Amino acid sequence: MSAAQAARFVEALAVANPAPKTELDFTSPYTLLVAVALSAQATDVSVNKATATLFAEAATPEAMVALGEEGLARHIRSIGLWKGKAKNVIALSQQLIEKHGGAVPPDRAALEALPGVGRKTANVVLNVAFGEEAMAVDTHIFRLGNRTGLAPGKTPREVEDGLMKRVPGSLLRDAHHWLILHGRYICKARLPECWHCVAREACNYGDKVLWPPGRAAK
Ligand code: SF4
Repeated sequence: MSAAQAARFVEALAVANPAPKTELDFTSPYTLLVAVALSAQATDVSVNKATATLFAEAATPEAMVALGEEGLARHIRSIGLWKGKAKNVIALSQQLIEKHGGAVPPDRAALEALPGVGRKTANVVLNVAFGEEAMAVDTHIFRLGNRTGLAPGKTPREVEDGLMKRVPGSLLRDAHHWLILHGRYICKARLPECWHCVAREACNYGDKVLWPPGRAAK
């Protein structure tokens, strides 16, 4: 896909949703980091439900460590992989206190050194909490990058690099949100809803679904 076509694709999403934001609830870089760490293989809705009570009790690293693994587990048992996540959240909170004065560092290497924090989580925190141009490639963006021709790649990192290269600089700050929401609600895994996709003209997918199931073309 040419740079001009990629720009048209992302611009179409931007026009349709001028002020995109994450669907995870948070009130600080720390609560964002915890929410993202809890969100692996879980829906944002289920994470928000758990963090509503969790953050009322513990919204700082110090309070989280005081709450402890068992106390934390009481809030997040409904979320997939909760045991490992509970361990990581306590360990990363401890590390924030010991190495960063209880603050979330605005730095990729320091973020990725935290327990359970990989490149994707670091990218979300850098982008959403600190306003950096970073592209967190989740399952939706990985699929979308390949399907549409926007940024084909065999690995999330290849798709990330392709998007960082092709998305116009002026749109990079919010592109992560536009693409993730587009993949989640329109360019869905099993049935892309091309019939009402605002980026259809700029999309290279060869099997566009131009009519809702059950409604034949006239
Ligand atoms: S036209 Fe279809 S395949 Fe292309 S981005 Fe839109 S929903 Fe996805």
